[in-house]
Amino acid sequence: MTRMFDSPDAHKFTPDSLEAGSDPFALADPLGESRYRVTPRLIHQYSNRALLKTTGRCFGYCRFCFRRAWIATNQDFIDEAELASVLAYLREHPGIREILISGGDPLTETNDRLDILFAALREARPGIVLRVCTRAPAANPARLTDDSIALFRRWRPLRVAAHINHPKELGGLAGERLAACVDAGIPVHIQTVLLRGINDDAAILAELFQKCLNLGLTPYYLFQLDLAPGAAHFRVPLKQGLAIYAELKSLVSGLALPKYAVDLPGGGGKITLHEGAIAGEEYRPEGRVCLLKGPDGKLWPYPAD
Ligand SMILES: *Cc1c(COP(=O)(O)O)cnc(C)c1O
Ligand code: SF4
Repeated sequence: MTRMFDSPDAHKFTPDSLEAGSDPFALADPLGESRYRVTPRLIHQYSNRALLKTTGRCFGYCRFCFRRAWIATNQDFIDEAELASVLAYLREHPGIREILISGGDPLTETNDRLDILFAALREARPGIVLRVCTRAPAANPARLTDDSIALFRRWRPLRVAAHINHPKELGGLAGERLAACVDAGIPVHIQTVLLRGINDDAAILAELFQKCLNLGLTPYYLFQLDLAPGAAHFRVPLKQGLAIYAELKSLVSGLALPKYAVDLPGGGGKITLHEGAIAGEEYRPEGRVCLLKGPDGKLWPYPAD
C-alpha cells in the first residue's frame, strides 16, 4: 500500500460527526463567487486578476474547504468549450495581469495538461502572471517532481501559492520540495487557514512562519475561516484571532508575518483584519455578529463567535 498522505495531520481530511452540527451562518458559496462568475469556472472579482477553477479534484478534501459544495459537483478538468470562453474573456479584458490557477487542486492534473493550459493562457494574454494555488505540498509532496519544477520554470512569471496550516505540514519532503521550487527561481507564497484546535496558537503559527523563512518561503495570508457548511467547529472567534495575531507579531520578524485577512461572507471581498476593522457588533437572527468595513465602505457581518 502506498501512503496517500505524507502529512502528519491528514486527519483534517477525515470526515467528523461535528460536521453535522447546525450552523445558522453557513453559506453554500461563502465567498459569493457566483456574483463574479464570468464563465462557470472563471471568477473575476478584482479588476487586475482573475481566478480559474481548473478542476474539482484535490489530493485530500479539507473538511473546512469553502468551495466544498462546488467541488462536490465539479470533479472534472475544465472542458475545451469553456476554456475557449476563458481565453476570449482574457483577450477582451486587457486589465487582467494575473490569473490564479485554482480548483480544486490543479496539480491533480498531469504536467502535460497543465503545460497546454498555461500555453493557451499565455497565448491569449502574453506575460500574464500565473499563480498556481495548491495543497500538494502538504497532501502529496511527491507531486512536486523535478519535472513539475521544470514546468513552472518554463512558464515564468509563475508563482506557487501553497496552502499550509501547520509546521508539521512543512516537515520532510514537503519542505524539501518547496525549497527546491524557490532554489529553481519559483517564488512560493504560503496561505494558512486559522483553525480551531489545529493552529489557533501564536507559538504554533510562529513556528510555521519561521520555518517558512528558513526554507525561503514567503508567508502571505493567514485566513479567518470562511463560512462553509459543516465547518463551524473549526472557527476561531474573530477577537480571539486578533489576539493570536497580535501575539504572533511579537514572536516573529516582519518578514515572517502574513497578512491576517478574511473574505467578507457573501462576496464583499478580502480585507485585512485588525482592531480597527471591527466597526461594531450586533445581534442578528443567526446570532451575534461583528460588522466589518468592506472595500466598498459598507458594513459586512461576520459571526462574532
Ligand atoms: C483571493 C482572491 C484573489 C487574489 O487576491 P490576492 O489578494 O491578490 O491574493 C483573486 N480573485 C479572487 C476571486 C480571490 O478570492
Ligand atoms: S485542497 Fe483546497 S480546494 Fe481542495 S479541499 Fe482543500 S481547501 Fe478545498
